[in-house]
Amino acid sequence: MKFDTKVIHAGIEPDPSTGAIMTPIYQTSTYVQDAPGVHKGYEYARTQNPTRTALENNLAALENAEHAICYSSGLAAMDAILKMFKPGDEILSTNDLYGGSYRLITKIFEGFGLKGKFIDMQSADEIAQHITPATKLVWIETPTNPMLSIVDIEAVTKIAHEHGALVCVDNTFSSPYLQNPIDLGADIVTHSATKYISGHSDVVHGCVITNNESIAQELRFIQNAAGAVPGPMDCFLVLRGIKTLHVRVERACQNARKVAEYLQAHPKVSKVYYPGFADHPNHDIAKKQMKDFGGMVSFDLVDNNFEAAKQVLSNTHYFSLAESLGGVESLIGHPASMTHASIPREERLKVGLTDSLIRLSVGIEHIDDLTQDLGKALDQLS
Ligand SMILES: *Cc1c(COP(=O)(O)O)cnc(C)c1O
Repeated sequence: MKFDTKVIHAGIEPDPSTGAIMTPIYQTSTYVQDAPGVHKGYEYARTQNPTRTALENNLAALENAEHAICYSSGLAAMDAILKMFKPGDEILSTNDLYGGSYRLITKIFEGFGLKGKFIDMQSADEIAQHITPATKLVWIETPTNPMLSIVDIEAVTKIAHEHGALVCVDNTFSSPYLQNPIDLGADIVTHSATKYISGHSDVVHGCVITNNESIAQELRFIQNAAGAVPGPMDCFLVLRGIKTLHVRVERACQNARKVAEYLQAHPKVSKVYYPGFADHPNHDIAKKQMKDFGGMVSFDLVDNNFEAAKQVLSNTHYFSLAESLGGVESLIGHPASMTHASIPREERLKVGLTDSLIRLSVGIEHIDDLTQDLGKALDQLS
């Protein structure tokens, strides 16, 4: 089955009791048993729910895998993965990791004895230097946020596996339409389905996908024991969003390229970060592992200060000033004061995250409205 067909059909059967073509929202906490232990595969809704099962089967198919487990948020999914590890274990990750993921490792799990190490993953040598016998998990995020660097999933996985570490890829920024890390050797894929997968900014949701039977069993055990389950309504909304995933992401990628080219030519813009440009330092890797270059674009201003950025951020109309990404509508954000405010300024500047850096999640509106909107805001800069 091709991807465009999978999003609509994989794992989804018409409802057996009525023929309803859309998977119903099974808003129930428990299921009636015919006799003790005699049931239809469903006992209690923390453990299983048919709306969730349909979504999990669909998500597994999108990442070419056997197992998917859904959670109440992207961070709940990460929390479940980290619970598989023990005090003394090391998690090796990127130094411009999603802020919430960084916070979960350093502020919660370090308190339980896990150790986080954050490095530049663009160089394979650097990774080999930092892996130790205690490294049990390598956590990749690519493209990174907000600098849009690319990590070579296949190369990093090879090194990690040589040292006996598992590899998990946070595939949120790419979506399964652009990139399938399990095909490149990764053991685990996770998504904040809040973003591209659901795509309509109306639900918070997460998932973990794997081909490894024992990892899947352990995660199911942890989920049932700890309880971070999504509600059936949320699962329904994600399933509904997925049906247009390929069309939405394809359009977002087309628009992002045009926005990046427009900004590149604008006299008030000093630098554009977009992996689709031939001179982006990781362009070749992006080309190798992604189907297209994604809907995210970051850029910096000639006026290298917060005041200038604030003016641009306040003067766009279609680009709404908000956290998050991956929805049909375009968003604009200021990493230094919003998503990355908790990182010390000197650390931020080292990776190019200046006070005037602006991040765009390009939506699927008409491209002319989007470029005009940015142009108007930039032209108003004094
Ligand atoms: C948003 C996000 C998360 C966290 O997901 P939530 O659904 O908000 O809990 C994790 N990783 C990345 C890359 C994200 O963008």
